[in-house]
Amino acid sequence: MAATMRSARLHAGGEPLRIDTVEKPQPRPRDVLIAVKACGIIPNMNAIFSGRLWNQLPPLPASVGLDAAGVVAELGSEVTDVAVGDRVYVNPWLDCGSCAYCRSGEPLLCSAAAFQGYFGFFPHSVRQLLDYPFGGFSEYITAAPQRLVRLPPQVSFEQAARFGYLGTSFAALRCAGVSGGSAIAINGVTGTLGVGATLLALGLGATRILGLGRNRKVLAQVKALAPDRVEVLALGEAPIAEWLRKHTNGLGVDALIDCSGRAAAAAHTADALGGLKRGGVAVNIGALTEPLSIEPIRFMTARLTFRGSNWFTTGEGQLMAEMAAAGVLDLTRLTTRAHPLAEVNAALAEVAKRPGGFTNIVINPDR
Ligand SMILES: [Zn+2]
Repeated sequence: MAATMRSARLHAGGEPLRIDTVEKPQPRPRDVLIAVKACGIIPNMNAIFSGRLWNQLPPLPASVGLDAAGVVAELGSEVTDVAVGDRVYVNPWLDCGSCAYCRSGEPLLCSAAAFQGYFGFFPHSVRQLLDYPFGGFSEYITAAPQRLVRLPPQVSFEQAARFGYLGTSFAALRCAGVSGGSAIAINGVTGTLGVGATLLALGLGATRILGLGRNRKVLAQVKALAPDRVEVLALGEAPIAEWLRKHTNGLGVDALIDCSGRAAAAAHTADALGGLKRGGVAVNIGALTEPLSIEPIRFMTARLTFRGSNWFTTGEGQLMAEMAAAGVLDLTRLTTRAHPLAEVNAALAEVAKRPGGFTNIVINPDR
């Protein structure tokens, strides 16, 4: 009889996940098998599992779970440079390797892109989800070695299970050229992306971090991360652009990282754009959907950039791991709430209450 494992599966959009006993996967020749120790839960998950959004769910029932970290348990026959026992984060980003974008070295633009254990971006993406049919709310998953971030001992599995949203923030900071001495604004600083962006910007050496958000309690926690470098503003308390200039010697910020979510008001983003320094870059990562009013002439004359960024590369994931190992990225500021696999629906309900970006809710599928 084949070996089995437990896996949380979505049987129908909007229904609770069910813990099913399924066949334990075997790695294909060029894949590895990972024993999952922790898998992150993020605010967007409830919306995706509702099945009502634009994204392509895999054929149901589907094993789900996005950000898995664990231990390499078995190697496919053709795998080299990975060892059984390696501690890893599995980047769930699936790129096809063969479309026009992948062939030109742009896997984050892949026209068949999908997230393992989550969804595909295009109808065409489903074939990739079928190649990697297990999500991180399972005792075991398979993955390709090029998607593994090696974890140093300083990074726990629970912290690594946050790498998806941390990496999204990290890639945005890199898109904006944030480095030592940068002054940046983070809109939506109290959420999962915003807290991650703050921790990473501190690690990259940004010297002025101006956070915008609603939740005053979490704003105070953000300020406390580095009181000399971080200032916070509760939305509605002062005109945003003026406030940004006030804290940057009148110049404005080098970069705006816009983490405002799908249901947020675009007006705050528009106001924050007014506080960009000449030559500044704004990067949207929060999936804001409301149309945004801008003055293109200002973008021309001040040479401004507004762009989007989605996810990050495995190489960027490795850089974050090295930053954490060196202590410049302080993941101990996150508070983990870990649940056994049987409590996955309770954990999804917990994240729906938006506990704030310092809370790291994870599932331990091995208990
Ligand atoms: Zn591709």
